[in-house]
Amino acid sequence: MAQANNPTRRPRGKLIVISGPSGVGKSTITRAVIGRLRDVYLSVSMTTRPQAPGEQDGRDYWFVSRDEFRRRIEAGQFLEYAEVFGNLYGTPRDKTEAALEAGRTVILEIDVQGGRQVKAICPQAVMIFILPPSRQTLVDRIGRRGRESGEVVARRLRAAEGEIAAAAECYDNRVINDDLERAIDDVIRIVENAPDA
Ligand code: 5GP
Repeated sequence: MAQANNPTRRPRGKLIVISGPSGVGKSTITRAVIGRLRDVYLSVSMTTRPQAPGEQDGRDYWFVSRDEFRRRIEAGQFLEYAEVFGNLYGTPRDKTEAALEAGRTVILEIDVQGGRQVKAICPQAVMIFILPPSRQTLVDRIGRRGRESGEVVARRLRAAEGEIAAAAECYDNRVINDDLERAIDDVIRIVENAPDA
């Protein structure tokens, strides 16, 4: 993804991957960061997971069938994709590429499997992993969201522990969300210091 050395072209944007276990406050931090920085594009992922109440197609996710998702994999339309909790999620390649070309900072809020793929394709991508202050906080936050059944909550907790362990290898930035404002400031500083993708 390196840019040819052409001084008349705008520099490419930065590529930022934000991951972390569910319930850790990733979306809250990401939204705040986007509100405070200029020229940031938050990638809208495509998913086969059912649309939840309050979610909007094209804003929260692009909701598609499994067949449609498979078709798009075959067509090479994803920068990365992964199966998470039994559903497919992927980052549309064309929109992120266009935003990077336009010099915008692109933020991907994706899981660790996807993060690894992005880092392999684009080594300049800056990887941020958001951590809960403690295991108990994570248990409380996942349980409180109330969107899922007890079994799903237990599965998400196990997945969270797996993600935290797996993140150690390719996430060079770790931010502990024990104080929201400080966590937001930390992420902003990391984004500001990130190299162009
Ligand atoms: P949720 O269904 O709770 O919105 O998301 C479940 C998980 O899927 C979260 O860890 C989220 O970061 C991840 N996810 C969302 N979009 C993508 C994507 O495009 N690619 C990958 N690999 N993971 C994603």
